[in-house]
Amino acid sequence: MLSLQNIYHARNRIQSHVVRTPLVACPSLSSKNRQVRFKLETTQDTGAFKLRGATNAILSLDPSALEAGVVCASTGNHGRAVATAAARVGAKATICMSNLVPQNKVQAIKALGADVRIIGKSQDEAQVEVRRLVKEEGMSEIPPFDHADVIAGQGTVGLELMEDWSDIDTVLVPVSGGGLIAGVALAVKSVNFNIKVIGISMERGAAMDASLQRGRPVEVPEEPSLADSLGGGIGLQNEYTLGVVQELVDEVILLKEEQIASGMQFLYREHGMVVEGAGAVGIPVVQENLSQRLGENIAVVVSGRNVDLKMFQSVLDGELPFGA
Ligand SMILES: *Cc1c(COP(=O)(O)O)cnc(C)c1O
Repeated sequence: MLSLQNIYHARNRIQSHVVRTPLVACPSLSSKNRQVRFKLETTQDTGAFKLRGATNAILSLDPSALEAGVVCASTGNHGRAVATAAARVGAKATICMSNLVPQNKVQAIKALGADVRIIGKSQDEAQVEVRRLVKEEGMSEIPPFDHADVIAGQGTVGLELMEDWSDIDTVLVPVSGGGLIAGVALAVKSVNFNIKVIGISMERGAAMDASLQRGRPVEVPEEPSLADSLGGGIGLQNEYTLGVVQELVDEVILLKEEQIASGMQFLYREHGMVVEGAGAVGIPVVQENLSQRLGENIAVVVSGRNVDLKMFQSVLDGELPFGA
């Protein structure tokens, strides 16, 4: 199905379009017996790793498909990534949103050159419009995670980790739909099966974790969380990510809101970095030793930086905007 080779092909395709992000040391989490380094996808264009998968999926389309344009329903990091990747290759991107999406998000996506369609009152209704555009206008949907080219693109994070740190023994990866962790796990475990790959989500609405427990995709109620980029399901028709996670991911850890907040505070205080909740979830796992599997050379994927500044400020002030 998906292999290391797909990830190498993805890399060749996308390398002139995306940033090869740095791996930096974190002295304050490191000790004599433990090295901790951060893979900074916060420095990726668009502020999150999602540009990798979106770019690979778009560049894999044939010319006639590119001509018809691409479409998705994400208003978050995936939407930004699709809009940006499409603009770079001269393809038209259409992003469908519900009328509940705040105006600043609508403007941000428009500013990236995408066509915005405001449809209905929910993300589900926006998704219906996506399907219509695929069927009637021949557009190609670029899904946020459950797609072979998207997973292969995200897997380039894992390739870079292996190249930059040959002694790596543990990788901590935020998990929502599982595209990132599936790609990273495929990349690192193909090279060295002993490397531990640990996923992290929030307690509030961890669809991948619930699906792993049941052995099939399940829906969980969506609740507001500091890790908003980790919200949403894995798709009841999940084809790829659940299987790869079942096979290759060693453990999934769930965090409380206050632990996510402490990760964001740490990265700001110690590194001066503004990181969104989803991007900060690896920090408390190391700080609080939340897994028995942590080794001596731990890479933490810091997945994105796109956070609402008011929310960020309130986290720095010690508040939990969505409760404990
Ligand atoms: C999308 C996203 C994730 C989760 O990625 P999946 O592939 O859905 O598991 C984590 N962090 C950030 C910043 C994201 O945008």
